[in-house]
Amino acid sequence: MRVARDEANGVWLVWGASAVEKHTIEQVTNTMKQGERLKYMGRRKLGEFSILSLEYGCTEKGSCFQRECLPECSQRKKLTIAGTTTKDKNEVNGLRDICYFGGGLVFVGKKQMGGSKTAMILSGKRCSICGQYVSSWLACHWGICDTCAAKCEHEFVEGAVIGGEAPYHGTYCKKCGRAHSAFIKTQTGTSLEQVQAAAS
Ligand SMILES: [Zn+2]
Ligand SMILES: [Zn+2]
Ligand SMILES: [Zn+2]
Repeated sequence: MRVARDEANGVWLVWGASAVEKHTIEQVTNTMKQGERLKYMGRRKLGEFSILSLEYGCTEKGSCFQRECLPECSQRKKLTIAGTTTKDKNEVNGLRDICYFGGGLVFVGKKQMGGSKTAMILSGKRCSICGQYVSSWLACHWGICDTCAAKCEHEFVEGAVIGGEAPYHGTYCKKCGRAHSAFIKTQTGTSLEQVQAAAS
């Protein structure tokens, strides 16, 4: 599948490269309504790239009149997202991070592309403060967009910082989750007290 990220709007466009994929995308865009979630069912790795397994149609509690949708539910449909080109595959890796840190994907809508192709518009989630869709895994993890994080009255604490390749021990804001180092790049060796003084 072809995958492109629209960072300004916090979304990805995903459209079919083959006839089968185009049909699959049509099914999703004809079934899903704006705001419905696609449930992350895991990934398969092919070298450094991920192939995503998702489910939609009846993954929200109660939509098939069950307390929790059952695996045999007839409304439940599978969707596999695999990139076509290397660029697409890199974007799919980004989508996987969103699934992992944001808990699945949200269906935003559809867009007509050239050549009678339909793209599904996907995002991680909406910012809990301003409602803007976010497409970075850090923003998804904390549910706060970069714009709102920049306006946050940070309360820095020490602990496991989510950022970079793996969590590390450091200083981060307990409200927006951003690492202290992301804001005060020019200062090195700043103590927690200095950071808190600078933030207040
Ligand atoms: Zn169901
Ligand atoms: Zn926001
Ligand atoms: Zn903050």
